[in-house]
Amino acid sequence: MNTNTKKILVINSGSSSIKFKLYEDKKAVASGVIEKIGEHTSKIELKDLISDKVEKRDEPVPNHQAGINVISEFFQDSGILESLEDLDGCGHRVVHGGKNLTEPCLIDTNILKEIRRVGVIAPLHNPAHLVGIKAMISAAPEVPNVAVFDTAFHSSMPNYAYMYALPYEFYEKEGIRKYGFHGTSHSYVSKKAAEFLGIDYDKFNAISAHLGNGASICAIENGRSVDTSMGFTPLEGLMMGTRCGDIDPAIISHLARISDYNTEELDAIMNKRSGFLGVCGYNDLRDVDTQIQSGNEKAKLALDMYIYRLAKYIGSYFSILPRTDALIFTAGVGENSDLVRKLVCNKLSHLGFDIDEGINEGLRGKLSLISKESSKVKILIVPTDEELEIANITTSLINNA
Ligand code: ADP
Repeated sequence: MNTNTKKILVINSGSSSIKFKLYEDKKAVASGVIEKIGEHTSKIELKDLISDKVEKRDEPVPNHQAGINVISEFFQDSGILESLEDLDGCGHRVVHGGKNLTEPCLIDTNILKEIRRVGVIAPLHNPAHLVGIKAMISAAPEVPNVAVFDTAFHSSMPNYAYMYALPYEFYEKEGIRKYGFHGTSHSYVSKKAAEFLGIDYDKFNAISAHLGNGASICAIENGRSVDTSMGFTPLEGLMMGTRCGDIDPAIISHLARISDYNTEELDAIMNKRSGFLGVCGYNDLRDVDTQIQSGNEKAKLALDMYIYRLAKYIGSYFSILPRTDALIFTAGVGENSDLVRKLVCNKLSHLGFDIDEGINEGLRGKLSLISKESSKVKILIVPTDEELEIANITTSLINNA
């Protein structure tokens, strides 16, 4: 084996799950997911991407430490890696960096403290990431760990974009402001798009639409995020699979007054029972599509709402950017749904978004230019790869350490 090969593990740990991908240089060699950690039976799926072997089993994984052991044994048994200590580094996805963690960084005790502190405003994510990071540190104490924050790319937003018009003290005392999410994806796809179009990244202006179950859109000026649709939490902005996106905030206080819903229930309604699911009963766009074909009016309404809101965001970012070089579609819906791409671009054709419907039709998950030659704004599909971006960032941080 080439001893210069950089072996980087990327970990995304949730409250009851660990997703991982192992890279040798930039090539993914193994991946997997352990779900339902701590429950009676956990679900384990481990893939050797070299031999294409997939191992699935259900067995109890009591905690994240045990989950890391499952991954380590899998590496050993399949001959991928003798020990986790052989890793050159481990990159961790961390959703929230807060006001202070605005760049990816090597993890030390101060960084751990700050990730924990920011957990107050990201209670669903940061505590879970910490558990994963600590499990990794105790399994392989000599391996450097890097934290890559979803919020970091948006730290370049100007204050007038990230402030809410609430009493200033909420910003000062509670850190209430727009942070933005999906930053690793927006950064990755916009760099790829600039490279593809042959434009220097620091001169590149784009609107990046990350449309998955969660969805956000980002205005990028000279290679820096200047605005994004998600806010203090990943609930604001576009309509999503199960999240409502922008609503009149007074609806929530009204519901709290007239119903028995408590804060947790109202949060769950907005995050898990709204969006496509709330309007038509289906959260996956493929199911929504099928329902529309069979005449389901609510499914049609949900898609119309989604497209309308997406077009409004793109239009507003088009208006604040001094020039828009490209519109980028990425993630599950953006990469796969020619229908969404066509419908939204057709609403924006008067602004110079001229999609080539022939090229767009049936195109999936492939880096491609889908606008007409004459289009003022280039329209692209750029498959996102947040894990690869985390692996790349981890490699460069450990190289410079
Ligand atoms: P997540 O936000 O969970 O990472 P993804 O980016 O994987 O989500 O996107 C998942 C969503 O992508 C699905 O719920 C579905 O709505 C959409 N999707 C995936 N494949 C297709 C397809 N072929 N056509 C339309 N939509 C698709």
